[in-house]
Amino acid sequence: MKSVHSGAIARVVDILAGEDRHHVLMVVDEDAYRACGAAEVIEPALDGHSVSRFSEFELNPKLADVDRGIALTNRQRPDVVIAIGGGTALDLGKLISRLAVQAASALEIIQGTASMDRPGIPLVVIPTTAGTGSEATHFAVVYVDGQKYSVAGPMMLPDHTIVDPQLTASLPAGITAATGLDALCQGIESLWSVGANDESIGYAREAIRLAAGNIVAAVNAPTLKVREAMCMASHLAGKAINITKTTSSHALSYSITSDYGIPHGIAVALTLGPMLRFNAGVTDDDCMDHRGAHHVRDRIAEIVGLLGARTPEEASERFRQMVQQIGCPSTLAEAGITSNAQLQNIVASVNTQRMANNPRRTTEESLLDQLSTSLNQGVSIG
Ligand SMILES: [Zn+2]
Repeated sequence: MKSVHSGAIARVVDILAGEDRHHVLMVVDEDAYRACGAAEVIEPALDGHSVSRFSEFELNPKLADVDRGIALTNRQRPDVVIAIGGGTALDLGKLISRLAVQAASALEIIQGTASMDRPGIPLVVIPTTAGTGSEATHFAVVYVDGQKYSVAGPMMLPDHTIVDPQLTASLPAGITAATGLDALCQGIESLWSVGANDESIGYAREAIRLAAGNIVAAVNAPTLKVREAMCMASHLAGKAINITKTTSSHALSYSITSDYGIPHGIAVALTLGPMLRFNAGVTDDDCMDHRGAHHVRDRIAEIVGLLGARTPEEASERFRQMVQQIGCPSTLAEAGITSNAQLQNIVASVNTQRMANNPRRTTEESLLDQLSTSLNQGVSIG
C-alpha cells in the first residue's frame, strides 16, 4: 500500500481493532486534531477503549513536557500511543512512548549518559502538517534548558505511520509555508550531506522536485493534488534525512528560532541560499565529503537544476523569490536580523553536530562572511 494517500486515516480503525489494545494514550495537538478532520474518524474508533490525552505542551518539545507525558504514561499504562499533530506532537509521542519504559531517566537518555534497552510502547504517528517528516525518522528533538538535543536510535522509528494529505487540506497558509520550507530545505541539505548515499539521494531528489514545484501553489492556491505532493515531499525528505541527518542551515537555525521566535522552517530557509552559494565553492582542501569536491559539486549542480536555475547564484535568488512569494521573510534582514552582533551570536551558537554533516568545512569566519554578504544584499534589496 502507498504510504501517503488520501483516506489513509481510516487505517487507525484497523490498528486499534487489530490487536489487544485497550488503553490508548493520545499525544495530541487538540486544535489541529479537531480542525484537520482526524477526530471524526478516530473518536468513534476509540469507543470501548480507555483513553488518556496528553495535550498540554508548548511548541518545540521540552524536557518538562516529556517528563509530564512519562508520568501520565506510568499512571495509565497505555498499550498503544497515538501521536497526532505537527512535528512537536510527533516528536513528543516518540520520546514519551520510548523513554517511559526505560530503566534510566529521560534526562539521562537525552544527555547520552544512559541508553535505551527496552522496546517502547507501540506508537502510531499521524502528521497534520506537511513538513517535518518526523514520522519517517529515527530521531526526536528535545530542548533541555534552552539547549537542543536529538535522541536517536533505531527504536525511535514509529511502529505505524499514517500520512493522509486530506488532513492538511485546511492548514492555514502560514503553517503550510513554514512547514513546506522545512521539507524543501531538508531535501536540499540531505542531497549535499556528507552522509548521502544512493538511497537517500533518490528520496531527496524527489522531495526537492515535489516541494519546489508545489510549495507556492500549496500556500496561495491549494488543491488536494498539491497537498498530496507536499505530503509526499515532506515524507520523502524525512526518509532522506533519516539516513543523512541535516547540515549547515539546520545547524544555524536553532538560535534563530529560539532567540527571534522565527518558525523552524523559515529559520532554516533564511540561510539556505547563502549556504548553497558557500557549498558551491567547495575545493579539495576544504571538502568534508570523502568522495571529494567533484562529488559535492555534482550534487550542488543537481540542486541548482531542481530549482530551475543554471548557477548557484541564480538558484539562491530563485529560492529567495520563492520564499517571498509564499509570504515569508526571505533574508535575515527581512526577519529583523540586521546587526553584525546578531549574526555573531547566531554563528557562535551553531549546532556543531549538524554542521559536521556539511560538505564544505566551515569556520566562524567563513560563516560570518557568508551571512553578512546576504545581510547586505537583503538590505539593498529592500
Ligand atoms: Zn527541519
